[in-house]
Amino acid sequence: MSKRELSRMKPSPVPLATLIGREIRNEKVEKPFVKFGQAGLAKKGEDYFLIKTDCHRVPGDPSTAFSVFAIFDGHNGISAAIYTKENLLNNVLSAIPQDISRDAWLQALPRALVVGFVKTDTEFQKKGETSGTTATFVIVDGWTVTVASVGDSRCILDTQGGVVSLLTVDHRLEENVEERERVTASGGEVGRLNIFGGNEVGPLRCWPGGLCLSRSIGDTDVGEYIVPIPHVKQVKLSSAGGRLIIASDGIWDTLSNDIAAMSCRGLPAELAAKLVVKEALRSRGLKDDTTCLVVDIIPSDHPVLLPTPKKKHNMLTTLFFGKKSENSTNKATSKLSAVGVVEELFEEGSAMLIERLGKDFPFDKNSEIFRCAICQVDQPPGNGLSVNSGPFFSPASKPWEGPFLCTNCRNKKDAMEGKRPSRPTVTA
Ligand SMILES: [Zn+2]
Repeated sequence: MSKRELSRMKPSPVPLATLIGREIRNEKVEKPFVKFGQAGLAKKGEDYFLIKTDCHRVPGDPSTAFSVFAIFDGHNGISAAIYTKENLLNNVLSAIPQDISRDAWLQALPRALVVGFVKTDTEFQKKGETSGTTATFVIVDGWTVTVASVGDSRCILDTQGGVVSLLTVDHRLEENVEERERVTASGGEVGRLNIFGGNEVGPLRCWPGGLCLSRSIGDTDVGEYIVPIPHVKQVKLSSAGGRLIIASDGIWDTLSNDIAAMSCRGLPAELAAKLVVKEALRSRGLKDDTTCLVVDIIPSDHPVLLPTPKKKHNMLTTLFFGKKSENSTNKATSKLSAVGVVEELFEEGSAMLIERLGKDFPFDKNSEIFRCAICQVDQPPGNGLSVNSGPFFSPASKPWEGPFLCTNCRNKKDAMEGKRPSRPTVTA
């Protein structure tokens, strides 16, 4: 046998460029179907949801379509939930540069989500209303799912291997030690309600205000250390697809992630949402607003969800993307990358704005105009800028190395970190 024949018998290694090319082509050709269902029962009427399947990355271009699914569980009234439902999406999208590629757009999303959440909170607080809301905001673009959330409305992912993963973090003082420590360090007091006789009851709350959540949008009457900075997680599903279940705590106070997923497996999304709500009510009755969205991301060439894909494919995607960020806040989350079916592209949960906006925030250095990275308002240099306004003029003791922020947004940042807005300059 000649050398040539021998080499022909061995499986020839596929060049990486070819693999990359295949991956890109597959992405373009096989956009998944997205099917969804919604169900809910109101007790207080403070749950709101958003389903929007006709969003375009490039306005007017249907080939750039993506979908948004969100739940807003309000408290102390409904206005924060309604305001967030109506404004959050626009605030996120306006923080993404225009005319960028799909990949760049997806990469810009996590930071834009942080900006959108903070902007929505800041603008709602100007109204002087005291209500607040959770926000669990899911963007589905092809096989890529990006979830941003504050509060305790969870989003879980049920993959075709039957593995259930939590894509959000519960921002509850009772269950989240890290958040408890952050709130306390920023000047909040954490404790339970005292009833007659000095007995403590109920979950841990933050005082003043008595909120059980450590992050939310709104809540003007609660300390600013209850921040609107979302935990963000971005994953890419395998071409077998998967199911998202997004629901308010009316579901999760009763059902575990696994039970919720199992209670509706194999059923169409519409029916699945109804069944999850029914299952939650069966054991406990209607104690709280209960809202559930089920979103199926399904291969377009298969009308139903496929069985678990082979490992070979996963090795390819792992090789291709790798894991970009460590989970910084939640140790309970299933390690998606270890499962192999889903590729973890991004995860970050820090409540510090500098860690979320970064030092390399894209802005036009040649521009005569400073644009605030959060509220997107333009300020010409010299106009309303004090000595310590921007990245170039920060006081030596506390340099802010992030992007340009206007005076209002800088005050907001300081307040969220527990520094008093009236004393922004802290000397060491
Ligand atoms: Zn601003």
